[in-house]
Amino acid sequence: MGHRLLVIASDAVDRIRYRSEFSAAGYDVMMAEKPGDAVVESNPPDAVLAKLTADPLRQLRDIRAAFGDRPVAIGIGQPDAGLRLQAIAAGFSDIVTQMPVLRARLRNAMRQSETVSEAERRRSAAQILGLAETRSAFQTPRQITLVGDVAVEIEAEVATRKNWRIKRCTVSHCLADDRRADVYILGPGVETDVILPELRARDHSRRSAILSLHDIADEQGAVRALDARASDVAPAWALPAEIALRVERALTRKDSDDALRRQADASMKLAMTDPLTGLYNRRYAHAYLGQTLSDPDARDDGYCAMMIDIDRFKQVNDTYGHATGDQLIRMISEVLRNNLRAMDMVARLGGDEFLVVMPKTTPEEAGMAAERLRDRVAGESIAVKDGQLGATLSIGVAIKPAAIGPAVTADDLLAAADAALYVAKAAGRNCVHLVDTAA
Ligand code: GH3
Ligand code: MG
Repeated sequence: MGHRLLVIASDAVDRIRYRSEFSAAGYDVMMAEKPGDAVVESNPPDAVLAKLTADPLRQLRDIRAAFGDRPVAIGIGQPDAGLRLQAIAAGFSDIVTQMPVLRARLRNAMRQSETVSEAERRRSAAQILGLAETRSAFQTPRQITLVGDVAVEIEAEVATRKNWRIKRCTVSHCLADDRRADVYILGPGVETDVILPELRARDHSRRSAILSLHDIADEQGAVRALDARASDVAPAWALPAEIALRVERALTRKDSDDALRRQADASMKLAMTDPLTGLYNRRYAHAYLGQTLSDPDARDDGYCAMMIDIDRFKQVNDTYGHATGDQLIRMISEVLRNNLRAMDMVARLGGDEFLVVMPKTTPEEAGMAAERLRDRVAGESIAVKDGQLGATLSIGVAIKPAAIGPAVTADDLLAAADAALYVAKAAGRNCVHLVDTAA
């Protein structure tokens, strides 16, 4: 379904013009003379286009009273700089005069409001799971970079804001400088069609907010900038206070986007790791093993998989309780983690079972590593009510020597390691058994 648009204009000719314009662009358009008149069934519009009056503050209050905070409000008209500022300060996202700019602005606003709703959905999901970020009271300074011909009055105004660091640079300098900026303000002469895609492609500026200023005569410049993924546009003659307000908003939106991204990273981590130990989980281990075995480099260098199981672990639970069992699992996880190389992968497959995959490893190195893990765990213990409690490991190692024999699948390798583990258990536990998959 198309986005829902409400047009508020007292003049019937205007209403009809906007209706036909936006219906043709696929919007679901509603009309009203005043905010209170609009008949909006259950769900509010996504955006409200309102002919700007002389009292934008009151106008926006009426819109918010009728439809809540969600709809993006865009003023239509040709106000002077003072009234523009009032309207932006009241909470209008933008004031637009020409139809092509209005269309581009709406596309841009709809894209941004989807990110905001997604951020809200994820935040509430995270809250339910107890994972919501706590907001830090400490704000790191924000970097605002002025590119090209940005008026000195704007620079002076922006420089008055607390915690904002201002820098000026040329276009080529700004592309070459790989220090991160939170917001770029592009002066009116800057060729946005060239520089915006470049900024969006570079690591240091990909996530930055970009506000593009354009000349009076260059309405098309605003359209091009919006469609080239500028975060915001404004006429270069707008009051410096308006520009500063827009920068403030861009920062708020950027913070919300960044939080959304961190949330996605955190969810990814959650999906890949075991909550008790922080080690990788079974799902990740399988995906990783598949990846390693299909990598020609890793294959040619030889590698091994170790299946590790704690000996007589059930007795620990039975004697000391599940919580002590958990503590022991965590201690053993630490020992495993601390006694392997950074490139080795350790996962807890479940229960008292672990998997270690070591790429670029000879059979001798694999045997020594397994012996070391067994020995280190045997030497550790945790405190329990009647003294110290230790544990031993049985380890089955499946080795795949460099460039010998046919390729091995993940299932084959795991089955071989499992069989080796079984032999180690049968041999009396607290020992390592190796099998060579090429043999
Ligand atoms: P074996 O030497 O043959 O391995 O003997 P075992 O007692 O260790 O036998 P097994 O590996 O089959 O037992 C695993 C036990 O681990 C069974 C189960 O009660 C316990 N267990 C599984 N998951 C958890 C867990 O998350 N926490 C705790 N504390 N115990 C668990
Ligand atoms: Mg066991």
